[in-house]
Amino acid sequence: MTHIRGIHHVTAIASDPQRNLDFYAGMLGLRLVKRTVNFDDPQTYHFYYGDDVGHPGSILTFFPWPGARRGRQGTGQVAVTSFAVLPAALGFWIERLLRHGVKYDGPARRGPSGADSEAVIAFKDHDGLMLEIVAHAGAEARPAWGDAPGIARENAIHGFHGVTLWVDDGEPTEKVLLDTLGFRPVREERGTRRFEAGDGGPGTFVDVRSIGGFVQGAGGAGTVHHVAWSVADDATQLAVRERVVDAGLHPTPVIDRNYFHSVYFREPGGVLYELATNPPGFAIDEPTERLGERLMLPPQYEPHRAEIEAVLPRIHLPISGSAASMLAESDGPEEVSGDALGFVHRYVPPESGSELAGGTTLLLLHGTGGDENDLLPLGRSLVPGAGLLSPRGKVLEGGAPRFFRRLAEGVFDQEDLARRTEELASFVEAATATYGLERDGIVAAGFSNGANIAGSLLFRRPGLLRGAVLLSPMVPYEPEELPNLEGTSVFIGAGRSDPIAPAAQVERLASMLRDAGADVVVHWQNAGHTVTKDELDAAQRWMAQRITSRAGGEHLR
Ligand code: ZN
Repeated sequence: MTHIRGIHHVTAIASDPQRNLDFYAGMLGLRLVKRTVNFDDPQTYHFYYGDDVGHPGSILTFFPWPGARRGRQGTGQVAVTSFAVLPAALGFWIERLLRHGVKYDGPARRGPSGADSEAVIAFKDHDGLMLEIVAHAGAEARPAWGDAPGIARENAIHGFHGVTLWVDDGEPTEKVLLDTLGFRPVREERGTRRFEAGDGGPGTFVDVRSIGGFVQGAGGAGTVHHVAWSVADDATQLAVRERVVDAGLHPTPVIDRNYFHSVYFREPGGVLYELATNPPGFAIDEPTERLGERLMLPPQYEPHRAEIEAVLPRIHLPISGSAASMLAESDGPEEVSGDALGFVHRYVPPESGSELAGGTTLLLLHGTGGDENDLLPLGRSLVPGAGLLSPRGKVLEGGAPRFFRRLAEGVFDQEDLARRTEELASFVEAATATYGLERDGIVAAGFSNGANIAGSLLFRRPGLLRGAVLLSPMVPYEPEELPNLEGTSVFIGAGRSDPIAPAAQVERLASMLRDAGADVVVHWQNAGHTVTKDELDAAQRWMAQRITSRAGGEHLR
């Protein structure tokens, strides 16, 4: 009997394409091996992630529909998708999930002890898709991609571990796996039966969980659309298709998916299966070293490339390898995100023709609970067209990112603040070199916790910042000796009824900065701990007068 070799790919539904890229290519370190469109709906993307070349067994694909409705996990679905890692990599992943603010469960033990023992951490993506990282000695046998940012090959994901099907009644589902597709039983544990195919081990496991009476699944963002089983070639595919017909099921004819050939059918438990051939693979239309860099279209859509590109949302790749090497290879700075340079961050290069920005790069520093995306709109309105450098704070307070620890509301952990300020300064220096920023044009714009670390940067590293917009700031610390801040311009936006950053603190901060020689403007408003339109307008005008006006040739410093 001709057998299924294991998993070929898993296809799921997502909402925002950029968040999907940042999570799977950026955080999990999978390689984007193909950026194409949904062949049945060319106005939406189809992303393929995998190992170095997208071997069968490593390919996770998504249809990201911006604003897609959430699906519901339930019976008749692939509920959980599991990735394989080496046992020694488990600690790395726990730390990485923590650092990225991804909630997880575990590690939990599963299976027998010894070589088949599994340690499992469970988590979800932004859309609620259920994922696992499974540490298993057998992961070694599967390839991994060694060039993901911040992930050494020994820690990288080695393709899929397996998938877990949720079905009402396991029996008919298991019969098709065993009799029609040639899977073999492995073990049973707490109502879940495991099967494997081909050579066995990670990449070939399917767990069938019978959960009679549980709610039925509904497709949508955060759910798996189908799982594809790998067949060696077209002839095997036709032979397996025959057996599917013999089992009384209704497979589609062979469909050409450009990178493989597909047959789809629904198994008795309601899960959509696909039989996918291993050839031709992802290098059919672009070289292996450039996989995923440009939008690839099948021949029928190539004549419509311009229209298709116009309606697809703009996306950018997370930093691949080191940001420096990526920039060296590309024609010019591209928008990037990822966790190179020591911080999860986004860098948006200045728009071409934006001379009015005067070489300014805004260092955006979010408040507690924000992230690297939060202040991008604020940055864009402060100085239209300016470059934006937006790191995410590394300290988590109950899951909320901050730039440094506090002992209580308004009581800062001074040791941590000193250390984190140095870290942030190193990041700014590394980013200046990597992205080729104008050393003299970096202006911080921070809110609340972000404003406080900006204040700490001003006092501890005079000269690093040309200026700062401090919104709802406090006195970060009392320096023993004031630095020389002549030539540094500071805008402070404060609320008279701010309970967190009281007026007396703001006045003290302004006078400290003035005593150090900085040029300080304070804008008061009748508001609390917030940023208002009025305040933003004032900051915008201040920027144009004190910072970016030097583009006209007159250097204010
Ligand atoms: Zn598929």
